[in-house]
Amino acid sequence: MTQLAGSGIGDLRRTMGGPVLGPDDPGYDDSRRLWNAAIDRRPAVIARCQSAADVSRAVLFATEHGLEIAVRGGAHSPGGSSGVDDGLMIELSLLNQVTVDPVAKRARVGGGALLGQLDAAAQEHGLATPAGMVSHTGAGGLTLGGGMGWLTRKHGLSIDNLVSVEVVTADGQIRRASEDENPDLFWAVRGGGGNFGVVTEFEFRLHEVGPMIQFGMAFWPLDQGTEMLRMARAVVAKLPDEVNVVIGAVNAPPAPFVPAQHHFQPGYALIVTGFGSAEEHAQVMDEIRSTLPPLFEFADTMPYVVLQQMLDEQNAWGRHAYDKGFYLDDFTDEAIEVITEQVPLKLSPLSVVLFYRLDNAYSKVPEDATAFSGSRRPGYAGFIVAVCPTPELFEQDRAWARSFWAAMVPFSRGIGAYVNAISDEGVDDRVRASYGDKYDRLATIKAKYDPQNIFHRNANIRPA
Ligand code: FAD
Repeated sequence: MTQLAGSGIGDLRRTMGGPVLGPDDPGYDDSRRLWNAAIDRRPAVIARCQSAADVSRAVLFATEHGLEIAVRGGAHSPGGSSGVDDGLMIELSLLNQVTVDPVAKRARVGGGALLGQLDAAAQEHGLATPAGMVSHTGAGGLTLGGGMGWLTRKHGLSIDNLVSVEVVTADGQIRRASEDENPDLFWAVRGGGGNFGVVTEFEFRLHEVGPMIQFGMAFWPLDQGTEMLRMARAVVAKLPDEVNVVIGAVNAPPAPFVPAQHHFQPGYALIVTGFGSAEEHAQVMDEIRSTLPPLFEFADTMPYVVLQQMLDEQNAWGRHAYDKGFYLDDFTDEAIEVITEQVPLKLSPLSVVLFYRLDNAYSKVPEDATAFSGSRRPGYAGFIVAVCPTPELFEQDRAWARSFWAAMVPFSRGIGAYVNAISDEGVDDRVRASYGDKYDRLATIKAKYDPQNIFHRNANIRPA
């Protein structure tokens, strides 16, 4: 297969505007690299697309030569689905333009743009759209799976703010999809991942955000896990609309606001962000500290873009990672018991357990309005993430993530999850469970736009 591609690379090069790289070309290793260092894949050809026309040529070239396709946006998929051995990688990092119309409050975002590029361009006008919490994540993969972050309680998921897309489908056609144009395709790309084609442009609705927002973080030691999670449950139950939280089992960072004796100590953190009045945010922080005084805390105002980059270093490229996702209705006492038993068993200080709150604007979107892989009822998206600097520790923390997840399943919404947090094993069953009733509708749309399933390196939906 590699040889066949090798002889044809020249043909692709002649038709594409962007560079086409083979294994011996400079830049090949940088272009094939994935965020997760545990995954190392060597494509036969990398098509660095500069336009939708380039993407179309690359798709048709791969089909003609029988090459498996991988589409690489920000390369952050935990299971490394944007890489491929011996196939053709459609690499989108050159398609990273972001154009903002501040009057219409719209952003047009290239299919390979990173969240930091979207945030920076929108914040120049005091605007933003909901996205993830780490700025080097790709807008492409994140949005196609749903996209949840600090603004999700106030403005929904990224897909809830999508107005239209430009997408290259399996037949090489460049199509637009919106509520009025190819509405079936538009429904499917809002949660159905990369199954339906390569999105070369996203159009988002923007909202006024910041530029300054409120931030608070409080931390408790491991042995106060049960009290802390019960306190968080009570605080979240009456959270004001413009405040959001992430609850995490993490190690204290070596940040200036952390007393030196607590650096790297494992424990539980509650991060509280405020997008409305400072008083409301302060009241939430007051309630937290009066209910269960933390080991240490930090509260301040900061620019929204700083918030969006705050976790970047913690999540830097080049670590070995493995993610197990699930949904939780609430921190029941049974769930808390499992969490507090399992958290102390991790080995790597970088491994984390995170809970994103999903309710309010998120829950106002009707269940079948999008293809999102989760219920809209209030709850949490949980992530058990093994993150290790070296392969040795990784084996053990991956096993920890798997057994933690298995212990959580009886107290969660089952094996289904946010598809962007599904790594590898049992993928077929988990993808079906995640989409539930929507799976058959997705499979029918898949059969229409990608009957041969050429876009299958993703949380795959089999054509009906
Ligand atoms: P890639 O690996 O490039 O792509 C992921 C999948 O999408 C692949 O199947 C790929 O083929 C496909 N794809 C990518 N771009 C396109 C496109 N333009 N057209 C068609 N298919 C495409 N998720 C959240 O919701 N919120 C968060 O806060 C969040 N934080 C994260 C932080 C880190 C450090 C990491 C590693 C992940 C995080 N995620 C978060 C999960 C994230 O949404 C997924 O990892 C997502 O797949 C990343 O997209 P990507 O473009 O970077 O990845």
